[in-house]
Amino acid sequence: MSEKISAIEEACLAKGMRMTDQRRVIARVLSQSADHPDVEELYGRASAIDANISISTVYRTVKMFEDAGIIARHEFGDGRSRYEPVPDEHHDHLIDLRSGRVLEFRSEEIERLQEEIARRLGYRIVGHRLELYVVPLDEEPS
Ligand SMILES: [Zn+2]
Repeated sequence: MSEKISAIEEACLAKGMRMTDQRRVIARVLSQSADHPDVEELYGRASAIDANISISTVYRTVKMFEDAGIIARHEFGDGRSRYEPVPDEHHDHLIDLRSGRVLEFRSEEIERLQEEIARRLGYRIVGHRLELYVVPLDEEPS
């Protein structure tokens, strides 16, 4: 693993958070994960780097990063919390229910439509979540 400072560690330092070695490892693992891992997966990756990291440390650290607005938490229908760095640009998610794969997408048309619907109802959107739960097109209907 490179010794370069990770994007999440950088965000933590910018917020004045104290970074221990273990927090630094967890920050790096999160920065390098593009697959929206849950705490168990993060724990597997982090403890492979530093065997002294416990799952409760991962829980606490992830909560701390989330409370600081550095990472985002998602629940994609299976009751497990999954994490990703807060992206520079908003995106939505498509969840393959068969493989568990999570794809990211962004549609200007959907963004516009949402604004329009909110405005029509007398509101301005300050945030939204859109999750599409999908099965492969070639799958036999059951
Ligand atoms: Zn995402």
